[in-house]
Amino acid sequence: MDGVVEDGSIYDEIGVPPVINATGTKTRIGGSRIRSEAVDAMVRASDSFVRISDMQAEASARIAEITGAEAGYVTSGASAGLLLGAAATLAGRDVHRMDRLPETSGIPDEIIMPRTHRTGYDHAFRAAGATIVDVGTNDRHLGTGATNVEPWEIEAAISDETAAIGYVQKSYTEPPLEVVTKIAHRHDVPVIVDAAAELPPVENFSRFIDDGADLVVFSGGKAIRGPQTTGIVAGRRDLIESIALQQLDMHAAAAVWDPPSALIDGDRLDAVPRQGIGRPMKVGKEELAGLIVALESFLEEDQAELAREWQDRAARISTVLSEIDGFETTVTSGNDVSVSPEVVVHIVPSEAGVSATDLVRALRRENPRVFVGTDRLDENIVTINPMCLTDEEADYVLDRIEACVGPSH
Ligand SMILES: *Cc1c(COP(=O)(O)O)cnc(C)c1O
Repeated sequence: MDGVVEDGSIYDEIGVPPVINATGTKTRIGGSRIRSEAVDAMVRASDSFVRISDMQAEASARIAEITGAEAGYVTSGASAGLLLGAAATLAGRDVHRMDRLPETSGIPDEIIMPRTHRTGYDHAFRAAGATIVDVGTNDRHLGTGATNVEPWEIEAAISDETAAIGYVQKSYTEPPLEVVTKIAHRHDVPVIVDAAAELPPVENFSRFIDDGADLVVFSGGKAIRGPQTTGIVAGRRDLIESIALQQLDMHAAAAVWDPPSALIDGDRLDAVPRQGIGRPMKVGKEELAGLIVALESFLEEDQAELAREWQDRAARISTVLSEIDGFETTVTSGNDVSVSPEVVVHIVPSEAGVSATDLVRALRRENPRVFVGTDRLDENIVTINPMCLTDEEADYVLDRIEACVGPSH
């Protein structure tokens, strides 16, 4: 099918096959479509100079206003936000500790997490120097009990070695965030919340701060549709200051070092930090400008209209696919595993002529490649997410799926 990807696209020009994204905001296939006004802001930002710390101070004020937090920071992704958040809870305002990370001998370095909140992304905590101490069980997952983690288990794990509590926000994570923050704050321990993909709804910008989170991390490259390599951290002013001190380029002459006071209280510091653990995760003026503009657009967007569009597209895809022999489809509601509804396609290989794995492999060999969701392959299920598809691309996906099934396969 011609016309899904414009002829002479940059990927054509470079010589790399393009992808049609039927699986949502996945980093490995490019995340999301950046908003055109954000691209425009990046192009304009690229042509002149600005002090990066001034841009971060302005971003901080805007993030604070949107989230209700004291301050904010733009990182090179939500994962970088988790690393920097951990670094802030490890080092605080201590310049010597900043200099030592990720080496933590003599520094409280444990981050407590319910075992059911462990993800591949928590490598970011360990990269900052933290040791993860996980508590609770997987009883619910294994069918061996009703509760994965009790609040007292988190409290019992807190000691003099505790730097923070790590929490992954999903509609079904337990215990509720406000229960965890109450326990943490009784012991003066901060809570870092990974809410990378929990937008929309825009109300979530402030919800986790309201629930007591000390730092909340969102991805800038998912539904916000800012630059792919951006993320947002919102939270306590002192922790954001520590993040700034460990992330900004610090090749500074002490006599003239004058960081923006809204972000860094230089007068209270007795020394200029060295390049910190966050320096390899730099954020450029282009990303900062792009994210700030994307945030504005995201807030102005008609979310109900967007939700209807995703719902309609998912329903249409589901109807067409349900007519294929051996395919059974259902549509999930949004705000469960994904913020958008998804089409769940259960494949009966003996009737469809392909297994879910065969289908996924064949679709990835198309040109343009087609990527569908593969988290449930072991159940012979593929999922289709409408968020990153146009209607024309959805037609291409349906056409290619139809071409990949049947007796000849
Ligand atoms: C996407 C995601 C991340 C990583 O976000 P980036 O902005 O790509 O770094 C971290 N945690 C969760 C739960 C995510 O969904």
